[in-house]
Amino acid sequence: MQRRPGFPARLDRPQAGAMTPTVPAARLARETQPPKPQGVGLDSAAVRARMVQRLAAAGIAAAPVLQAMGAVERHRFVDTALANQAYEDTSLPIGLGQTISKPSVVARMIELLLGAECARAGALGRVLEIGTGCGYQAAVLARLAREVYTIERLRALHEKAREHLRPLRLANVHLILGDGMLGYAAGAPYAGIISAAGGDSLPMQWCEQLAVGGRLVAPMAGADGRQLLLVVDKTLQGLKQSVLEAVHFVPLKSGVA
Ligand code: SAH
Repeated sequence: MQRRPGFPARLDRPQAGAMTPTVPAARLARETQPPKPQGVGLDSAAVRARMVQRLAAAGIAAAPVLQAMGAVERHRFVDTALANQAYEDTSLPIGLGQTISKPSVVARMIELLLGAECARAGALGRVLEIGTGCGYQAAVLARLAREVYTIERLRALHEKAREHLRPLRLANVHLILGDGMLGYAAGAPYAGIISAAGGDSLPMQWCEQLAVGGRLVAPMAGADGRQLLLVVDKTLQGLKQSVLEAVHFVPLKSGVA
């Protein structure tokens, strides 16, 4: 049986002995709170390395993708209470009924994106992500693409992603509040378009905004309503579509809320 990663492995609690009975109750409560996982980042590298090993064992072969997944601290993108699950292969709630995709799905989709004809040596030009969510996938993409345009329709998540990404100082990530069903024309044409939400049909704008040689990876409802992973390559001859495995994403919705 596989051992669950013991993350965070160590929490440095404040010295209880340093307090005297004269400390006001509110301050006492504040000082005895366990620290947030930001303070224990020192232990996360090893847990992340194990996650990367599992991704490789599960078939992710592109070294740049594994490297990026090993570098981005996923625990910083989820609630403190969920931080100990951040490196398990599971999707997690990020608020407003939305979820951060599981690491294997993020890695799989980005690996597919890097299969675009116009991707050079594991790197992409401009990429559009539909569904910023908590900002995690955008941070991974930032290590593999020259520019990342990421669009979110829920204001609260757009703001949350901004908070999560701020300390990373990723100058090539552009956060947009808007309806990603319309794509984002200002950044087009894109070498890659990746959607973290699944619709019933492919928005025309996505295909229009894709560069020739570019690739789109998105979940899409099949004939029976089940979601399947769709890959669309734009060639000089037109669009080439492949339908891959079943997936499970939150729904693509229109409008800003
Ligand atoms: N990539 C994200 C996953 C978030 S889940 C992460 O790493 O956390 C998918 C997100 O897509 C949700 O936040 C949802 O609000 C958003 N979404 C759904 N329809 C959308 C649309 N039309 N435009 C922009 N975002 C959309």
